[in-house]
Amino acid sequence: EASQSGNFARRTTAEWQALDAAHHIHPFSDMGSLNKSGSRVITKAEGVYLWDSEGNKIIDGMAGLWCVNVGYGRKELAEVAYKQMLELPYYNTFFKTTHPPVIELSNLLAEVSPKGFEHFFYCNSGSEGNDTVLRIVHQYWAAVGKPAKKYVISRKNGYHGSTIAGGSLGGMGYMHEQMPSQVGNIVHINQPYWFGEGEDLTPEEFGLKRAQELEAKILELGAENVAAFIGEPFQGAGGVIFPPSTYWPEIQRICRKYDILLCADEVIGGFGRTGEWFAHQHFGFEPDTITMAKGLTSGYVPMGAVGINRKVADALIAAGDFNHGLTYSGHPVAAAVAVANIKILREGGLIDNVKNVTGPYFQKSLREALDGNPLVGEIAGQGLVAGMQLTEDKATRKRFANGGDIGLQCRDHCFGNNLIMRATGDRMLLSPPLVITKSEIDELVSKAKYCLDLTAKELGML
Ligand code: PMP
Repeated sequence: EASQSGNFARRTTAEWQALDAAHHIHPFSDMGSLNKSGSRVITKAEGVYLWDSEGNKIIDGMAGLWCVNVGYGRKELAEVAYKQMLELPYYNTFFKTTHPPVIELSNLLAEVSPKGFEHFFYCNSGSEGNDTVLRIVHQYWAAVGKPAKKYVISRKNGYHGSTIAGGSLGGMGYMHEQMPSQVGNIVHINQPYWFGEGEDLTPEEFGLKRAQELEAKILELGAENVAAFIGEPFQGAGGVIFPPSTYWPEIQRICRKYDILLCADEVIGGFGRTGEWFAHQHFGFEPDTITMAKGLTSGYVPMGAVGINRKVADALIAAGDFNHGLTYSGHPVAAAVAVANIKILREGGLIDNVKNVTGPYFQKSLREALDGNPLVGEIAGQGLVAGMQLTEDKATRKRFANGGDIGLQCRDHCFGNNLIMRATGDRMLLSPPLVITKSEIDELVSKAKYCLDLTAKELGML
């Protein structure tokens, strides 16, 4: 037993770190400095907890990378994958073939998706989902006889993945700097980030103003040239930025006025995060496409999908060949796991519980715990996701010149205290598994408070 770690022989932490440093390039990492310090080796997980190779038990305030919605250690998902691997581990859906898992998944997604979403295209990740959205958008406008509609408008500090199209759609300058080849016909407008950019406008005024930048951009490009607007209902990787309530209704009005497709990237927001099945339902708008990944399988196996509403699907279906697909589109094992995962979300009443019980409890506890900490200028969130803004002066919403360093300082305290809380610049993020209980929320919030208070004390603010 002690000589095994799951499927693999147990090594010492130092051995694992040395092999990792020797052969593994990590995503979004500075490998030079990481190889010096050594990676933390995560060896197992259960519920909302992780264990590392040193035996530390860590509360996962981020559900992995915002994806383990049903929590770790779900035997029913493992069993479904095992059975499916024995029965039919792989077959494609390219050449007039299909299989039961992808049929059942599509049928189930049609049941849990908003009205009008009855068609789904599959891929392996959120990035591929957004690549697919781009392909669908172009195919749609060609099909309805308006091929000149090519421009896609997205936002600065939006995140849509790290393939070339995903990275181009996203508005992350530090990614663009390393991408001399970007996808064309993509333009970015400003984000609805009131705390940082709202100046002296009210949130409501600012939300309208930022939405109206879409109208200005459409008029500049010519509506006859604009295909779509894409956005995350709330920005996740950008810092859990919740737009003012005026933002999305205005975006929707503008898209409809100029006949522009509205594409919701629900890779983080989907499958219950805000207490609704999809975050756009919380914000009250109706998209034409929905990008899904992460919570679709709770991260147990990779899978992404694009939900396509009837208007777009009808045109696609009538248009003849759609020359897009991936070897693993609708992969049977991933599809079988997705079905079982969605059934856990639905039949356990988990999403209703996030909406009515754990979500409100989490939001209230966090606000009460951090009310006396002047370092926290704002808490944005709904359901089981929150972004905490670090600020030098709450009253004037002044941000630190070195806010990113302070975020990392706080994150290091979290690591030291066996809490996973993410830092994005000067915002601290939480997005725990949806199965988290009230007492686990108490632990999560008290650890977050401890680490934020400690950071404030080091800055002389508390
Ligand atoms: N869109 C959004 C909103 C995301 O948050 C992410 C990943 N964090 C992606 C797309 C990309 O998904 P993936 O990493 O699975 O390619």
